[in-house]
Amino acid sequence: MMRRTMRYVDGTKIKESLTCARLPYLAFHTPREDELPPTERMEVLFEAGRRLEDRLLEGIGPEEVVFPRGDWDAGFEATLDAIDRKVPVIANGVLKLGEFLGRPDLLVFREEEGRYEVADVKSAQVVHASARLQVAFYSRLLGQVRPTPRRGWVIVRDGTRVGFEVADLMASVERLLDRLQRYRRGPAHDPGPHHDDVCLDCRYREVCFAELEDRDDPSFVPGITRAQVAALRAAGIETLERLADPPDLRRVVKESGLATDTIRRLARGARAMKDGAPVRFGAVRREVETAKLAVVALLEERQTDATIAVAGQVLGRDDAFRVRYLRAPEAERPDEEFRTFVFNLAKTEGAVLTYGPAVARLLDRLVLTAPKAIETVHRLRDRLVDVKAELRRSVALPGPDRLPHLAARAAGVAAYDDAVDLELLRYLEGFGGTKEAIERRLARDVDALVRLRAFVLEGGVAEGGGP
Ligand code: SF4
Repeated sequence: MMRRTMRYVDGTKIKESLTCARLPYLAFHTPREDELPPTERMEVLFEAGRRLEDRLLEGIGPEEVVFPRGDWDAGFEATLDAIDRKVPVIANGVLKLGEFLGRPDLLVFREEEGRYEVADVKSAQVVHASARLQVAFYSRLLGQVRPTPRRGWVIVRDGTRVGFEVADLMASVERLLDRLQRYRRGPAHDPGPHHDDVCLDCRYREVCFAELEDRDDPSFVPGITRAQVAALRAAGIETLERLADPPDLRRVVKESGLATDTIRRLARGARAMKDGAPVRFGAVRREVETAKLAVVALLEERQTDATIAVAGQVLGRDDAFRVRYLRAPEAERPDEEFRTFVFNLAKTEGAVLTYGPAVARLLDRLVLTAPKAIETVHRLRDRLVDVKAELRRSVALPGPDRLPHLAARAAGVAAYDDAVDLELLRYLEGFGGTKEAIERRLARDVDALVRLRAFVLEGGVAEGGGP
C-alpha cells in the first residue's frame, strides 16, 4: 500500500506561492508520480545553487544537524539540542511545529543577544522578497520554541550578508500562511491554473495545460494577468474563443472594470492565439525603416543586471557583426571595452534598433561610472528604437515576445531551438564551455532582431515619422 506522506506548509511553498498561486496548491494535493522531473534548465540552476551553498558554507564551517532522512521529528529534536548547546552556527536544522516545517540553511548564535538568528543562502545577487519571507517564516517558527530573532539574513551569491528586521515582514508572513492553509484544505480553495512563462519549467505543467486546453482558457493570451482573466470572467468572458470576439464591448468594459484599449488588445491577442497567426493592426515608426544599426546586450538578471556583453550589427551587412565582452574573465579590461563601444556607437548616425530595455540600461551604467559621459549617453538613448515596443504597437503575436528569439518564433519568421540558452546558462554558472556561448546567444538575438524588423515593416510605416 502506498504510504501517504504529510504535506507541510514550508518555505518552498512560501517561495513558490509568489511565483504562481497554484503551485503550492498542487504541491499539497498532487501525487508525486504526477510531477514531471526538473527540466534541463532547472537541473543546472539547482546544481548551481547546491554548489554555491557548499562553497559559502565551507567558509563558515557550521555544525550539521544529523538525523534519519525525512524524520522531521528527530531533526527537530537534534536542532533544539544544538541550540541548547549554543553551537555557534547550525546547518541542516529543522523547525517543525504542527503543519509548519522550516528548513533554514543556517541558525547563527548571537552571543551578545543570547539568541539565534536565521540566515539563508541564495544563488542570486538580488535579495528577492520571497527570500526575506522564507527567513521571516523560519524566524517565526524559531520564536515559538526559543527567543524570537530580531533580525534575519540572506547571504547572496558573492557572500554578502543582507540583514533586515524580521518584525517588518511578519504581517505578510501571516497573510501568506493563512492563504497556504486554505489551499491545503482542498479543491474549494484551488486558485486554478494560469498560463504563463513560468509554466514552461514547472513540474505540474502537464496537469495544468490539460485543464487550460480543456476549458479554452483566456490565459493563453500572451501577457494577460490573472487579475485580467478574473475581471473578464466577471463579465462573462470565460474562453479564448469568446475573448477573440467579445459580444458587446461596452458591456464588457462596464462589467470587467478593464479599460476599452486593454480589452481590444487582449481580444487581438486571443484572435492571434486562436488562428495561430499574427494579427496586424497598426504601423511602425519610420525610424525602423531608416535605421542602419542593430544593438543587443546581455545582462545577467541573477546578478543584478550585471553586464556581460554587447553586440552590434550593421544592417544589410552580414559580415559587420561585432561582440564586445564587458566583464572579466571574458575581457581583460572591461571598462575600456565599454568606453570603446560607446565611443564607436556615438560616431554613427541615425536610429539604433534594440529589443527591450537592456541596451538603455547598459548606457545608464556608463553615467554612473563616468558622469562626464552624460550628454553622450542621452544622445545615444534618444536614438534607440525598441523593436519590441514597435511590435506591440503594430501586431498581436500568437506567442510570447519577452525575448527577440521568442517573438521571432511567434511571428513565424524563424524557428530557433533553445540549446543556445542552455549552453549560455551552463557557461555563466561555471559548468564549463567557452565564451563563444555568449557570442552565439548574441548572434541569435541580432538575427532575430533583423528578422523582426523586416516583419514589422511588412505592416507599413506610419505617416509623419510615427503614430
Ligand atoms: S503549470 Fe503554471 S499554472 Fe500550473 S502550477 Fe505550474 S506555474 Fe502554476
